[in-house]
Amino acid sequence: MIDFQKLAEILSNNKSFLITTHVNPDADAIGSEVAFYKMLKMLGKECKIINHSAIPYNLRFLDLDGVIEKYDATVHDVYFDNSDILVALDFNRADRMVSMRKPFTNSNQIKICIDHHQDPEDFVNYQFIDSSYSATGHILYDFIKTTDIVIINKILAAPLYAAMMTDTGSFRFERTTATLHRIIAELLDTGVNPTEIYNQLYDESKLSKIKLLGRCLNSLQLIAEKQIGYMIITQKDFSELEAIESDTENFVNYILSIQGVKIGMLFIELKNGFKVSFRSKGNIPVNKLAGVFDGGGHINASGARFKDSQMTDMIPKILSEAEKFINKNTKG
Ligand code: 5GP
Ligand code: MN
Repeated sequence: MIDFQKLAEILSNNKSFLITTHVNPDADAIGSEVAFYKMLKMLGKECKIINHSAIPYNLRFLDLDGVIEKYDATVHDVYFDNSDILVALDFNRADRMVSMRKPFTNSNQIKICIDHHQDPEDFVNYQFIDSSYSATGHILYDFIKTTDIVIINKILAAPLYAAMMTDTGSFRFERTTATLHRIIAELLDTGVNPTEIYNQLYDESKLSKIKLLGRCLNSLQLIAEKQIGYMIITQKDFSELEAIESDTENFVNYILSIQGVKIGMLFIELKNGFKVSFRSKGNIPVNKLAGVFDGGGHINASGARFKDSQMTDMIPKILSEAEKFINKNTKG
C-alpha cells in the first residue's frame, strides 16, 4: 500500500518542486508529469518539469502550455539545489535519467519517487511505488481521490487518461480491470474526449515513422522454434528514412501478435551503443531477462541499454541468453 497521507504531507509542507521522468518518455511519463504539475499549481506551489529527452512530437498536445523543459546543465542545475522536493515520476532507477542522473543524485534536497515498475533502486528519500498499478497516472489518480487534495477537472483528467490508456495498451494489458474502467468513466465525465486523445497519440504519425515500421518489420526473424521473434533497426535506417528513436515506440508489439511467439525483442542502434526492448506474453518475466544485461522494467515489458558496445557483436549473445531463458521458463 502506498502511503498517500505521507505524500500529501510532503506536498503541503513544501513550496517548490522539480519534476522529472525517464529517457524516451511515453504518455504515462509525460501525462503524469503534466497532471502532477497542474495539481501542484492548483495548490499554489512553484514547479518545474525538466527532462533528459525532448517531448516526443505526438505527446506535445499534453503540454500545450509548453511547461516541459529539456535539460540544459547551465540553465537548470540551479533548480536541483533550490527546489524543496525533487520528484521522479514513472521510473525507479537513477540511470533512467541519463544526463540528469548526476545533478539529481548529487542534490541534497528531499527526493521522492512515484512509480509502478518492479525492482526499485534506493535512490530517493521516499518511495511511493506499487507495481500492481497499471500506470503512474493511475497512482496519481488514486492519490488525488484518497486525499481529496484537489478536484479532478478536465485539465487533470486528460493527461491522466492518456497515461492509463497508453500503459494498458488501450485497455487490453493485464492490469485492465473493472476498477480501472470505472476510473476511466469518471475521467470521461469531466469532458475528456477519447477519440481526440487516441487520434493525437496514434493517428498523427509522420510518414517517416511508418516507413521505418515497414523496414523494421522486414527485419523480423523467428528463432527457438518460433517462440522468440526479433527485429533490428540501425542508425542507417534512421538516417535514410529521416526517422528518430521515439518513432520506434510500440513497434516491438507487432512481434507478439504472431501466433506462438512468446518473447519479442527489438534491437535499436543508437548514436552511442544500442537499446533492446523486451516484450512477452503470459507469465514469462522479461524483466529478469533484461536484468541479465542491467536493464529492467515490467514482467511483460522491459528494456536494457548498452553504452559503448557494438550491437552486431552483442545480438548473438542476447539471443542465446533469450533462448536459454525461454527454455527455463516454459518447462513444466
Ligand atoms: P521500452 O522497451 O518501451 O523502451 O521499455 C519498456 C519498459 O522497460 C519501460 O517501461 C521501462 O520500465 C523498462 N526499461 C526500458 N529500458 C530500460 C533500461 O535501460 N533500464 C531499466 N531498468 N528499465 C528499462
Ligand atoms: Mn508507466
